[in-house]
Amino acid sequence: MMIQPLPAIADALPAARPLVDRYGRHISYLRISVTDRCDYRCVYCMAEDMTFLPKRDILTFEEIDSITAAFVARGVSKLRLTGGEPLVRRDIMELVKTLGRHLRGNGLQELTMTTNGSQLRKYAGALADAGVRRLNVSLDTLDPDRFKAITRRGRIEDVFAGIDAALEAKLAIKINMVAMRGTNDDEIETMMAWAHGKGMGLTLIEGMPLGEVGIDRVDSYLPLRELHDQLSRRYTLEKLDQRTGGPARYVRVAETGGVLGFITPMSHNFCESCNRVRLTATGQLFMCLGQDDQVNLRDALRDGGHDELDAALDRAMLLKPKGHDFVIDRARPQPALGRHMSVTGG
Ligand code: SAM
Ligand code: SF4
Repeated sequence: MMIQPLPAIADALPAARPLVDRYGRHISYLRISVTDRCDYRCVYCMAEDMTFLPKRDILTFEEIDSITAAFVARGVSKLRLTGGEPLVRRDIMELVKTLGRHLRGNGLQELTMTTNGSQLRKYAGALADAGVRRLNVSLDTLDPDRFKAITRRGRIEDVFAGIDAALEAKLAIKINMVAMRGTNDDEIETMMAWAHGKGMGLTLIEGMPLGEVGIDRVDSYLPLRELHDQLSRRYTLEKLDQRTGGPARYVRVAETGGVLGFITPMSHNFCESCNRVRLTATGQLFMCLGQDDQVNLRDALRDGGHDELDAALDRAMLLKPKGHDFVIDRARPQPALGRHMSVTGG
């Protein structure tokens, strides 16, 4: 499918006014879930039987591009495509190429993607050609059987082949690993040695209580402070000043020379410096992964065009909450929020 050339929306909008919320936080980072569908069913992310969003409600590529342009005109400089699995959306490369044009002196500094890697072998070269320089690839284990059990269907060889193709295409890779007690906590050091040995970063993530899924979140929850302390007994962890405006902190492991990240939304959330908002595949803008406040950008665009869209961004800034209130404990066995991570994008 070809995307029709769009008018220069950024030019049509009022003079750029940065997006600043009630707490003085500048919004410079937009994550877009381009689909809530996925070829995997990771146990911490989805249920086995998922009801996906109706296709007719999904934003078209033109609409995603219009919304992106409106954000870029208001100072957003970083864009991440996620999902669901972004690479299973049909003709996804048309969208990536179109969004890539915002990189060429048009305000956007970085276009990235989070992927499960299953289709990466096919797309790595095209992603690099479109201006993508970095990818996050999610992989929670190096063991094929364990991988199949966690994803409920994946073939680890596909992900390995995808990673190799991406490295070949000179894409920088960070591996995202959700740390789960009793499932993969015995593999942290092996994963680190493997990732660092291939010149990739490894980022550990705390499981978050989003949606009904296939595991007991209380049993599997592993506070990363615990892992950090364990690792610091065996390795020299040198603090890095890389800040992403999110709940991630990075160290360099002196022994491997590689970068290790800790994403701790549960145990330490860093909401005070949050710089991001999230767009769902149907055009709902969520101001926080852990809260329900949202603005419908699809209706704003469809009903009122670019002026209404711009006004909706101002409304969104008034709604961004101070922080989330995720809790994982036995007294609150329900997920903190009914929606799955695949809706708002990880
Ligand atoms: N399908 C792509 C992938 O897996 O990389 C992109 C979407 S996925 C929702 C983005 C990231 O969120 C992945 O790294 C995944 O491991 C993580 N994730 C999903 N559900 C999570 C949860 N409940 N808690 C913490 N991380 C989660
Ligand atoms: Fe799919 Fe990514 Fe969720 Fe796994 S984490 S089910 S790969 S969206």
